[in-house]
Amino acid sequence: MRVIHLKMVPGTNLKKVRIHWFIRDDTKGPVATPSKEIGCNKGSIIFGGVRGYLACQPRQEGVLPVVRPDGIYMTMRTDDIRAATCPECLASDEADAYRKKMEDTAEVAV
Ligand SMILES: [Zn+2]
Repeated sequence: MRVIHLKMVPGTNLKKVRIHWFIRDDTKGPVATPSKEIGCNKGSIIFGGVRGYLACQPRQEGVLPVVRPDGIYMTMRTDDIRAATCPECLASDEADAYRKKMEDTAEVAV
């Protein structure tokens, strides 16, 4: 049996998994996710194969699970900020810029 280690959001009574915001950026992202193509009855679906970085750790080069003798260490991530729970990612300059952009979009939509 393997133990899977997940980071939790600190300061909450609820057990909330820390999910980082993965920002896609082909120009400067140190992270390159592996690409995998899966066939299905509608054709093929390609997963991954993108470059980017974590908003709170822009220099981190890997996001894949790390296997150690005491278990598997996960870096949970999403490219949708609405699903991110990491307080540092949500407080990043990129998150502020995203929120500002959404406010501007809301004004246009009214
Ligand atoms: Zn984060």
